[in-house]
Amino acid sequence: MTTRIGRERPLTVGIDVGGTNIRASVVDGAGEVLDTVQAPTPHAEQALQDGLERAVRELRSRHRIGAVGLAVAGFVDETRTTVRFAPHLPWEDSPVANELSDRLGLPVILEHDVNAAMWAEYRFGAAAGAHNGVMVALGTGIGAALLVGGELYRGSYGVAPELGHLQVVPHGRACPCGKRGCWERYCSGTALADTAIEMLARDPASSTILAREAYRDPGSLTGRKVAGAAQDGDPVALAALADFARWLGLGLAFVSDIFDPDLIVIAGGVSSSAALYLDDAREHYAAAITGGRHRPLARIRTTQLGEGAGMIGAAELARVALGDEDAPDDTSSVPTRAPGSPGRATASTSRDKASAGRGRASNGKAEASSAQGGKPVARGRKTAGAVRKSGTDGAHR
Ligand SMILES: [Zn+2]
Repeated sequence: MTTRIGRERPLTVGIDVGGTNIRASVVDGAGEVLDTVQAPTPHAEQALQDGLERAVRELRSRHRIGAVGLAVAGFVDETRTTVRFAPHLPWEDSPVANELSDRLGLPVILEHDVNAAMWAEYRFGAAAGAHNGVMVALGTGIGAALLVGGELYRGSYGVAPELGHLQVVPHGRACPCGKRGCWERYCSGTALADTAIEMLARDPASSTILAREAYRDPGSLTGRKVAGAAQDGDPVALAALADFARWLGLGLAFVSDIFDPDLIVIAGGVSSSAALYLDDAREHYAAAITGGRHRPLARIRTTQLGEGAGMIGAAELARVALGDEDAPDDTSSVPTRAPGSPGRATASTSRDKASAGRGRASNGKAEASSAQGGKPVARGRKTAGAVRKSGTDGAHR
């Protein structure tokens, strides 16, 4: 059966599949979140698929939905249909997109969560107008994404980039990945706490706030608590943040020596404390990058869309996959079928690939011109950009 789509385009659902919660939102073509449902993440594979299906069906009962995008913290294969491995989810080599597509009778795409967040920032937020961009999401570790020529760079097997596990200290701190001295062991929320604990062990008397915390429960120190103590002037917390800023600047210089980006977006939980370290990090970055005095430096900004970026990006990628991005208002059509009937998944996958290519081409065209003082602006972000830009553009530069 083919449903004729009228002037009103179908919306898409973006789902952030986190280790703790599933958050699913209906998102429109301007990146605005219209409706959200949330549920705890089931720990069994079948129950997780059931939970995702339930979330979409609930949203679908209130909105006309054309496609679904999942943002997943894990390795997504190069076809973006299978989760190879996700440390906090019960999926291993699981054909997640096709299974959910069969259940729902809708096209479903998968994306690595930081890639999805980068895409959202590119279309509607802090990375608007970027040509080559890097996102580093600083949380328990470092999640990263690369935008190259206005396209997400996923590598040959879908797993690029793992910037957090570049070794910056030979024989350094042990990393859960099995290596030692990875960048994220020195530059993440976890790292901030570890550095503070190391410093406290060396000189507890110099701390006014953190030492008391650590005395009560040494395991309770988190990056957030260190940032809070720095805000209140604790010398050890300030020193830990200075060390964090140095590692952030050095690591970004390392990455920039390879990719030469024009924009870097700092995201993740630690980005909310950027006022405490970002200026320092910029100085370390400028000092450490090769030939820093003889080249333009990338702008370093914080996330504009925050925690919802992955969800918004997944929904937007689903919309692109739907072929809706550049379709005339009244001519697009979307085949649908009753859930459970065969033949949908393969079609949705090939449609996904073909129309994703169209989406990229249109972005390239849109970058060529703009009415905003000659700054390149990609298509489709005008509305959201106008709304969200105020108060954030340049605030962290
Ligand atoms: Zn590692």
